[in-house]
Amino acid sequence: MALSGIQIYKLLPQTNCKDCDFPTCLAFAMKLAAKQVELSLCPHVSDEAKEQLSEAAAPPVRPFVLSSNGSEVKAGNEVVLYRHEKTFYSHPGLFLRVYDTESPDEIKAKVTPADAYKVDYVGIDLDMSGFAIQANGGDFAAAVAAVREVSHRPVILIGDPDTLKAGLAKLDEGEKAMLCHATQENWQTMAELAKEYDAALAVLADTIDEMADLTGKLTEAGVKDLALSPTQRGFRGTLTANTIARRMALKATFRPLGYPIISFPGDVGDPATEVMLAAQAIGKYSGFIVLDHFSPETAYPLLVLRENIFTDPQKPIQVQPGVYEINDPKPEDPVLVTTNFSITYFSVANEVESAGLPAWLLVTEAEGMSVLTAWAAGKFDAESIAKDVKRFEVGDKVSAKNIVLPGHTAVLSGELEEELPDWKVLVGPREAVDLPAYMKQAV
Ligand code: SF4
Repeated sequence: MALSGIQIYKLLPQTNCKDCDFPTCLAFAMKLAAKQVELSLCPHVSDEAKEQLSEAAAPPVRPFVLSSNGSEVKAGNEVVLYRHEKTFYSHPGLFLRVYDTESPDEIKAKVTPADAYKVDYVGIDLDMSGFAIQANGGDFAAAVAAVREVSHRPVILIGDPDTLKAGLAKLDEGEKAMLCHATQENWQTMAELAKEYDAALAVLADTIDEMADLTGKLTEAGVKDLALSPTQRGFRGTLTANTIARRMALKATFRPLGYPIISFPGDVGDPATEVMLAAQAIGKYSGFIVLDHFSPETAYPLLVLRENIFTDPQKPIQVQPGVYEINDPKPEDPVLVTTNFSITYFSVANEVESAGLPAWLLVTEAEGMSVLTAWAAGKFDAESIAKDVKRFEVGDKVSAKNIVLPGHTAVLSGELEEELPDWKVLVGPREAVDLPAYMKQAV
């Protein structure tokens, strides 16, 4: 049972010392009851109280990690239904499925490009998470071995217990895989297998009641790392099953459904529908998403969507402040100024780089805000720009000393001239896309 804020408060030291960054123990207790903070933030809580609070402090969606040779897929640990309430924590893993009826060469041809796929998105590497291998009457062990020959990413193995055992023997030592599926019929055997190989176990059920019954039996049998695998397919079925499970876990702290969810958009067969189902699964609560098709054109939008939903809305994506060299600049080349909001940085850098123009790009510390937001918030002004010009010793790198302000902040030019008397302050265009034309003309 979840504890209320008042019940939690009674177990806290009640000294209001503020070491947890909350003004009172009661405020902290309320946040703890809402699963919005960790108990570890209070350094003064007694061991006895800790034990009693463990239920309240335990994550409502149990986290675990699939791993293999340094690659990891984390799932669970979510505390909110909607991203804007706090943030989502564990990016859903995208897995490409192969079947053991495909030849090893076919499997390798399918896995290799997906394994190698990597794209830089505003400084973040996006890639596929791993592979699922499904038994279909072929040589399962050979299929697992074929995947392992060309990829060391985590795997999900799908088949009956005996077949899975043959596949597990082909995995590298120490890796943590997921096994599919424990059902009402086979759960004891699957539990033994999961324990023997320290694997996570996906639980297949048609209804919420059946799912809760099975996860209860499996946890009692000693298997802790479980994933829910509802049998429903299609948009409505998956959405309903995933939402009910997650709501019960978060709103009612119903532990038997407090596990990450695995979805199989690949089961629909049609690649276009598969991508849409995968997009829905990213937004609505799947931690593992199994696809049957891979192409850069479909992986990229899914991975960008995932990034957009799973980044913390309260923390802008930032780049390190400093001086960045674009196209091997010389001392006579101009210094462009922008802020350390990732998208702002990449917009400017990409425009200048792709135009082949050399420049020094000064990225100032603006708490990850875009130029206009930072200017309005007082984080991007003449004083802070001049401070970073000196901090990063920009004057030692250039001879011409031409510094270009973003057009939206033209108003800063007079003050910046006062702050940097040796420099010529220029006002650039308002949009990054107009920078190349401006640079060819004005600097
Ligand atoms: S750190 Fe602990 S004792 Fe201090 S105010 Fe926070 S909850 Fe209370």
